[in-house]
Amino acid sequence: MSDTRVLVFTDLHLHPHAQYGQIVPGQGQSRLLDSRVLIVGCGALGSAQAEALARAGVGRLRIVDRDFVESSNLQRQTMFTESDAQQRLPKAIACANHLGEINSEVVIEAEIADVNYSNIERLIDECDVVLDGTDNFSTRYLINDACVKHNVTWIYGAAVGSYGVTMTIRPHKGPCLRCIFPEAPAAGSAATCDTAGVIMPIISVVAAVQVTEALKLLAGDAEGLHKSLMQFDVWRNEWRRIGIGERAPKCLTCDLGRFETLAADNREFAAVLCGRNAVQVSPSQPARVDLAALGEKLQLAGEVNGNDYLLRFRTGDYELTVFQDARSIIRGTDDLATARSLYAKYIGN
Ligand SMILES: [Zn+2]
Repeated sequence: MSDTRVLVFTDLHLHPHAQYGQIVPGQGQSRLLDSRVLIVGCGALGSAQAEALARAGVGRLRIVDRDFVESSNLQRQTMFTESDAQQRLPKAIACANHLGEINSEVVIEAEIADVNYSNIERLIDECDVVLDGTDNFSTRYLINDACVKHNVTWIYGAAVGSYGVTMTIRPHKGPCLRCIFPEAPAAGSAATCDTAGVIMPIISVVAAVQVTEALKLLAGDAEGLHKSLMQFDVWRNEWRRIGIGERAPKCLTCDLGRFETLAADNREFAAVLCGRNAVQVSPSQPARVDLAALGEKLQLAGEVNGNDYLLRFRTGDYELTVFQDARSIIRGTDDLATARSLYAKYIGN
């Protein structure tokens, strides 16, 4: 693949924006156009990845996110605007709107959903690579299980404070996430977004490495991958590459093939959202909600507004945002029981 390291300008015509300089060597540009990338989570990392991949000319981007834009996101989620926050647009929709303005040739498949055992295998179907834009380890193990099971490369990335980390996981060709981290780091053992926040520059660094790895893969230059656990701290001026070596013997996921997170009995009905004083509650069964009808009912009990994608209901110190898939993000508490009882009272089972 040595010739791919030299810029070759033979296929500029394949993409109208290629003249702006997002040249991928050799036949890479046309390969990008024929590719589909899944971005799991469209917050700070995910929206940065999406923007870079759209500008690079990746043909299809599948973007999944469960949340909506708030003004507190804007400090680090550079794709979104005050207008998105005022309209409380779901991040997947706001991201799709902006990408359409950046590169109208890219086909955007936006989905407002919580990524979990019930949809991850459908979501990665026909994707060439999966990018981690999540903020939690349980979703990362879920991505790892699905990607190892279906032999799809995924690119882990995380950032907190001024620190970031990334690793490219090629199932069966190198260690998977569980080879490196058999267990999720214990709560409290590391800074989390609850305690540390995150500064935007580290997002740019992690997303840049993730996207470059994706471009190498899509362009067919797997030899160029960094093959390590990369760690950065932009405040402490530390940049480290740790060799990741071989797969762990008896790894539950990639050696023994136990994909525990994909099982239905692993389902979580309620989860605290990182750093938000909010809890997400999911319906006990897959469901659809008629938001207009629910809004009429809730008007009797509090203040209701919303948009085409969600309904917001305020009562007392709590604010419930309800999506069409019957999920709710309940703000004003980080207590699961309180959130579940508010859900039962106002939305249903
Ligand atoms: Zn493994």
